[in-house]
Amino acid sequence: MADSCSDCERIELIKKQKAPYFVRESKTGYVVIGDNQRIKRHSLFLCKQCVSELHLLAPEFRYGFLTEMSIAAEAVYKSV
Ligand SMILES: [Zn+2]
Repeated sequence: MADSCSDCERIELIKKQKAPYFVRESKTGYVVIGDNQRIKRHSLFLCKQCVSELHLLAPEFRYGFLTEMSIAAEAVYKSV
């Protein structure tokens, strides 16, 4: 995937500690609060591997990513 996708750019900002809405890193991704909150609690779970489709992730990584995504979603849900 191209180096310059918006998720990769945001991950680079996180690594440089310049991402104001960064929440937490996990094994497979990064939780960030959405730039706008038109939808209450809008947040993103950015994958550490840049692919355009979930099925392009290796199965073991994909299952870990999806599990962590559901944990992040539950945490966001319970946060308010
Ligand atoms: Zn990317």
